[in-house]
Amino acid sequence: MIRQRTSSLRRSRQLLDDIPDSFPALQLDRHGWLRPHPYVTLLPSPNCNQRPPDDDATLLVIHNISLPPGVFGGTQVADLFLNQLDLNSHPWLPRLRGLKVSAHFFIRRDGSVIQFVSTDQRAWHAGVSSHQGRAGCNDFSIGIELEGTDTLPYTASQYLCLSQLTPALQTRHPLRAVRGHEHIAPGRKTDPGPSFDWARYARDAQWSRRQLPA
Ligand SMILES: [Zn+2]
Repeated sequence: MIRQRTSSLRRSRQLLDDIPDSFPALQLDRHGWLRPHPYVTLLPSPNCNQRPPDDDATLLVIHNISLPPGVFGGTQVADLFLNQLDLNSHPWLPRLRGLKVSAHFFIRRDGSVIQFVSTDQRAWHAGVSSHQGRAGCNDFSIGIELEGTDTLPYTASQYLCLSQLTPALQTRHPLRAVRGHEHIAPGRKTDPGPSFDWARYARDAQWSRRQLPA
């Protein structure tokens, strides 16, 4: 009896770790920040500026990042986006010296999300890029970083968070398409890579075929 209870406790704790079973809806407030939520942290980054006056976000860009690459769960990504990264904390990191970047959102392996930039502002995630003949995708996009690599499958919790975050963004911004960084900066970027399951995400978030990468 006791053994049974222990194992079912362990099972439910494991489920909670993998997929939050009650995930309240994510919502943006009128300033483009996620409302308080058990899985949301806001860490405003200085690496942002205004969008051009007539631009709203019409494109969603999916990325991956982990620092050092393949190492998950640390503070390095948030530190990078806040210009607080200790470059001496790992031998791989000094190559990032002087880099000023950000994304609107960073979804961790456990499905929690950190927001760094209001969706009304221009985050610095895309770099040299173009979409449907227009350059400079930061002007008209929202960037979501998934904690991960091009080759390791993303977690169920990350897909769940992404499928909840997407409609929250669509409610506030006229998003017409979603692309990977690899699609808007081909030859220069490879993320989110073959490990990202576009069919699964499209189904979860109800993107239509014409809104997806070809
Ligand atoms: Zn990227």
